[in-house]
Formats: sequence, structure tokens, C-alpha cells
Amino acid sequence: MTKVLVTGAGGFIGHHLVKRLKKEGCWVRGADLRRPQFEDSPADKFFIGDLRRFEDCEVAMFGVEHVYHLAADMGGIGYISENRADLARNSALINLNMLQAARKEKIGRYFFSSSACVYPAWRQEHAAVAKLKEKDAWPADPEPGYGMEKLFAEELCKYFAKDYGMEVRIARFHNIYGPLGTYSGGKEKAPAALCRKVAQSSWGDDLVLWGDGKQTRSFCFIDDCIEGILRIMASDCAEPINLGSEELVSMDELLHLIVDISGKTVPYKHDKSKPQGVRGRNSDNTKLRSVTGWEPKTSLKDGLKPTYEWIAQQVCT
Ligand code: NAD
Repeated sequence: MTKVLVTGAGGFIGHHLVKRLKKEGCWVRGADLRRPQFEDSPADKFFIGDLRRFEDCEVAMFGVEHVYHLAADMGGIGYISENRADLARNSALINLNMLQAARKEKIGRYFFSSSACVYPAWRQEHAAVAKLKEKDAWPADPEPGYGMEKLFAEELCKYFAKDYGMEVRIARFHNIYGPLGTYSGGKEKAPAALCRKVAQSSWGDDLVLWGDGKQTRSFCFIDDCIEGILRIMASDCAEPINLGSEELVSMDELLHLIVDISGKTVPYKHDKSKPQGVRGRNSDNTKLRSVTGWEPKTSLKDGLKPTYEWIAQQVCT
């Protein structure tokens, strides 16, 4: 029975990961500032702590063999555009202290959750964007604040691997979505925000879509993300690997898929004054396929159905 720590276990991906690791037979300690918002955690122990503090990282890590580190200060494009200083400082403190505690505790394997926001803006200026390969992160020009901190933390993982022989695994997540994710309050991302807006829409109110609707992204369903995390963790690759879908859609197309699932008629308008991030972004899964022999399988349409149904149930009850 492997003993593992999942940080960010009160958050969206961390909570799903805890559930899967329990099914795999692991002993799991979750750690977070808070417990999961929508259901109880099945973790064997749940440590409420602040991982910006070194002592809390030590307590969280005590006695475990593997660490899945997902805690971070993060949110959707609105949140990460407006809170760069706090967000970068908070996550940098977490990552500095987590790695040092992992070294002291002689952790056997350390998973770090990075992001597609590490990729340079100049490679993402067109909606018909070329898929991003891992090596494209350099020369660097990441998303200010959030992406810059993630890129620094990736490098820090590599330094600890080189200087102290730590086994690190690094995944660059591309827009993960699914049930039990934040859908309101300002930290929600596009799929959850649009599911909420569609579920709440009624005649007379135009739904507001941020940007001109032509900006593109790929979205990865949570079950695929969790499968990918386990496969990357089990691999022998210590370099960053994309973990995302290659199914590129515009925001207009994303909204139309959600509206179709809802069965509603939803009038909408664009608000070009709102932040929309880079113009286009897609994952290149060549490395993921070659390292793990696998890639995300769930189509956006199939993943949005349970996501919309869960969010609609939340906002309508
Ligand atoms: P989330 O916000 O739902 O979960 C992050 C968790 O970290 C939260 O529960 C939060 O309370 C916790 N946390 C923040 N500061 C903390 C602190 N000081 N001490 C302890 N816990 C703290 O986010 P998520 O979507 O589950 O993302 C998990 C990881 O994946 C993050 O590192 C995020 O940057 C990365 N990521 C996510 C996406 C995505 O689409 N969801 C994309 C790219 C990268």
C-alpha cells in the first residue's frame, strides 16, 4: 500500500485524484487550506494547513513515499489577470517550501502540476494555432504572473532532481474541466462559467461571452487528466509533458456545444472588453503518447454533458 500526499486535495483536480488513488489502494493524506467544497474527501487523513509555510509542508509530507503536488493559487483568466502579485508570490512560496520539505523527507517521487500558461505569447497569436510542443516553452514569454511562476517552479523541480537526485514528474495541464469544479465566485474557468451561464439563462437576458468568441482552446476532461497524472507519475520521464486534449474549439463553438446539451434557446452577445488570454492554444500530445502509450480519449461533447448536468443541478437547486 503506497503512502501518498495529495496537495490541493480540497480543490477540483486534487479531490478527483484522491478518489482515484483510494480506488487504486493507496493510503492517502490530503492537504489544503480547505476541505472539498461539494462532497467529503475519502482521504485517510486530511491536513488543513498553509503550504506557504515550510513547517506545514513538513507536517503534510511526514511519512509518505510519493507526493502529488497540486496546491496553487489559481483561477480563470479574469482572476489570473488581476491578481498577478499575490498569486505568483503565494504559489512561489508553496513550491519553494514543498520541494525543500520533499528533499528533507527523502520523498521517492514528486509530481508537479504545471500549466499550458508557460508557453510564450508569441506562439499563440492566432486562432488557428500550431499545437504546442514541450520544447516550445523556450525562449520564454509565459502568461505574466501565473505562467511565469509555473515555469520557474518547473525549473526548480529540475534543479532539485539534478542537485539532490530527486525523482520528479512534471505535467503541463491544458484547461481541465468536469463535475465538482468551481463554477462561480470568480475563480471558475470558461467551460464551468459557460455551463453556469447557460443553466441560469432565461428569456430577456443575453448571455455574455468574454472576447469575440473566435479565440481557441482545447479542453481536457477530468477523468482523462487523472489517468494521465497516474501514467506520467509511473513513467520514467523527468521532463515536462503536456497533458491535454488536441480537440481545438473556439469559444463560440464551446458555447454552442453547451447550449445544445442544455436543449435551451440562449441568446448571447460578446464582451470584447473582458480578458480573453492568448488568441489560440492547443496541446501537442506526441510526447505524452510516446512516454505513456496513451492520450486523453473523451470528446469535448461527451465530457461537457456530465459537467453541464452537474452544474445545472447545483445552480437550479
Ligand atoms: P483548485 O483551485 O481547484 O485547487 C487548488 C487548491 O490549492 C485549492 O483547493 C486551494 O485551496 C489550494 N491552495 C491554495 N493555496 C494554498 C496554500 N497556501 N496551502 C494549501 N493549499 C492551498 O485548482 P485545480 O483546477 O484543482 O488545479 C490544481 C493544479 O493544477 C494547480 O496547481 C493548477 O495551477 C494546475 N492547473 C490546473 C488547470 C485547470 O484547468 N484546472 C490548468 C493548468 C494547471
